[in-house]
Amino acid sequence: MKTWDPVIERTEEVLSVWRSRCISTGGRLTLINSNTVEMVERWEKCVKSAYGQWEQSVHSSNTLLGSLWKNLSPPKVEVFAWMAVKENAATRSVLLSRNLITGIQHVLCPLCSLYLETHKHLSIQCHFSWTVWSVILEWWNLKWACPSPVPDLASWWLANGYKNLEKHIWESCFYATLWSIWLVRNDYIFNNSTTQAWEVGELVKTRVAMWMKAKFDIKVYSVEDFKFFLDGIRK
Ligand SMILES: [Zn+2]
Repeated sequence: MKTWDPVIERTEEVLSVWRSRCISTGGRLTLINSNTVEMVERWEKCVKSAYGQWEQSVHSSNTLLGSLWKNLSPPKVEVFAWMAVKENAATRSVLLSRNLITGIQHVLCPLCSLYLETHKHLSIQCHFSWTVWSVILEWWNLKWACPSPVPDLASWWLANGYKNLEKHIWESCFYATLWSIWLVRNDYIFNNSTTQAWEVGELVKTRVAMWMKAKFDIKVYSVEDFKFFLDGIRK
């Protein structure tokens, strides 16, 4: 776990900033039909509960959920992937089902404003997200018919024939892409971000490279090597 300590510390810092920002500018969260502090506490409770359930699934059986623990990315990222596969991360459709938001204008996907923000839409079917996945597939010289919903995508992605480092890089792409789409989605909501899908794709590549270098103590390849010469590293 030590490998991730700096990453976790940084994540906690970001969460702390996000939290104070949300609390100090609670008025910006007009779409949330509840007290902002309460919302943050509920989210934290939800994450803690997810940790517990996740640990159980890891130890109980060799199910898809149990197999999601790869220790290739920071724990928070893998927990998020687990929640996304279970389709209970706090998308707008989930918040709607819990009566935490109301009004059709508040349940649309923040990335396209066209469709209900379900897990399937946000993570895969949204044109924005589909473009991000396509950037990553192109990085691997692959073309695909994207499986959906999220559990099917996870099963497909993790049932690969790769070996050794190539396998780890490929599997990291799944976590990094899901996580990066989620972060940019939050950035759209809270910071009116206008990040482009191709930029998120590049960010995914950078995250994967940094995670691989940290996890396997890879000094011979730079982040740029991973991004531009992946074929050479895979061999
Ligand atoms: Zn969308």
